[in-house]
Amino acid sequence: MITREECEALDAGDELAAIRDEFTLDDREIYLDGNSLGPVSSSVKARVDEVIEDQWARGLVRSWGDAGWMAQPTRLGDRIAPLIGARAGEVVVADTLTFLIAKLVGAALELRPDRHVVLTDVANFHSDLYIIEAICARAGRPITLRAIDRDNLDDELNEDVALVELTQVDFRTGEALDLKGITKKVHDVGALMLWDFAHSTGAVPLDVEGADVDFAAGCTYKYLNAGPGGPGFMYVREVWQGVLKNPLPGWLGHARPFDFELEYEPAPGMQAFVTSSPSIIALAALDGALDVWNRASMDQVRAKSLAMTDLFIQLVEERLPNVFEIVTPREHDRRGSQVALGHPDGYGVIQALIERGVIGDFRAPDICRFGFTPLYLRFVDVYDAVERIVEVISTGAHLDQRFAERNPVT
Ligand SMILES: *Cc1c(COP(=O)(O)O)cnc(C)c1O
Repeated sequence: MITREECEALDAGDELAAIRDEFTLDDREIYLDGNSLGPVSSSVKARVDEVIEDQWARGLVRSWGDAGWMAQPTRLGDRIAPLIGARAGEVVVADTLTFLIAKLVGAALELRPDRHVVLTDVANFHSDLYIIEAICARAGRPITLRAIDRDNLDDELNEDVALVELTQVDFRTGEALDLKGITKKVHDVGALMLWDFAHSTGAVPLDVEGADVDFAAGCTYKYLNAGPGGPGFMYVREVWQGVLKNPLPGWLGHARPFDFELEYEPAPGMQAFVTSSPSIIALAALDGALDVWNRASMDQVRAKSLAMTDLFIQLVEERLPNVFEIVTPREHDRRGSQVALGHPDGYGVIQALIERGVIGDFRAPDICRFGFTPLYLRFVDVYDAVERIVEVISTGAHLDQRFAERNPVT
C-alpha cells in the first residue's frame, strides 16, 4: 500500500513544486477540474491589471497601435506555438474553439473539391459534431459527414474522404490518439487532417511538425489557465498558408483594414484567419497565463502528469478494488492527463466529493472525471483525494436522494 509519507517524499523531489505558489487555490480544496477550467495565476492578474490601467484607461484608442493590440492574435499565437511543436507564424489566437473548427472545416473542404466525405468520431465532443455537421451542410456541394467509431478509421478511409477531424485526447475517457500514425494514414489516401487539441494543449507533448499535421485548433482556458471563455487558437501548417482561405472573412483579416476597401484581400500569414476585433482583456489574461509556462518544459509536465495519473489509478485499485471501472488506458502513450472512473452512481460520487472539497466533474452516462494538472497539484493531493473517495463510497454518501436529479452544469 502506498502511504501519504511516500507521496510527501515525491512532492519534496518535484522540480515543478514551486510553481503552485503562482496560483490562487483554496488549500482546503483539491482541484481536479483544471482540464475544464484552469485556476487564475498572479501573472494573469498582473497582466490584466496592466492592460486595463495603462493601455486601456490611459492610452484609449491609441493603444491599438501603441500597445500592439492589433498584433496580439499573432504574437500570442507565437507564444503557444512551442507548446504544440509548431513554428512561429503558424498559430493565431482568435474566437473560441468551436468557431475555429468551423473555419478550418469550411476552408479545408475547398482544398479537396473533388471529394465528398468528412469523417469524425461518433464519441467526439458534441460541439465539434454540431458545427462540423452545419458547415458540411453549407459547403456549396453535397458532403457526407460520417461520425464513425474511431477504431474503424482504417475501413472508412478511401479516396472519397476530403477531411478527417478527431479530438486528440478523448474528453470523456482521457484516451490519447496517435497523432503521427493517424495523420499519416489520412495523408496516405490524400485526405487532410484536422486535430482538436482541447484536452491536449498543456497536457501532453505535441509535435505537429513531426507528425505532418495540416490543421489544428484548441482552447486556452483548460490546461493553459487563461480564464473562463478564454480565446481559442488555430494552427495552419506553413505550406497551407496563402492557399487556405478563411471562410468567415472580416476586416481584421484584411491586408489593409484601415483602407476600408470594398474588396477583401487577405492579410499575409495567420492574420488572415482573424475575423473581427480581438478581445484584448481576454488576450491579456492569456498572455499572463503563458508566463507560468516559461518555468516548465512540456517534458517535465508530462513526466509529472504520468506519475500522478499512475499514482491515482494505483491508489484507487488498492483502496477501492472492484468499485470503479478504470476507463482511461493504462498505457502511457494512450493516456492524456485525466483519469476517468466509470460508476453507475457517478453523478452522486462527484457531488458528494465536491461537498468534501474534491472538485472533479461528471460526464454522462457514468464517468467520474479527474484532471491532473502538474503545474499546481501535489502528490499528496492525489492521496487525499482518494481518501475522500474511499470515505464517500464506504459511507454511501453518493447514494443520497439529493443527487437523484442532476444540475444543468455537471
Ligand atoms: C472544451 C472543448 C471544446 C469547447 O469549445 P468552445 O468553443 O471553446 O466552448 C470543444 N471541443 C472539445 C473536444 C472540448 O473538450
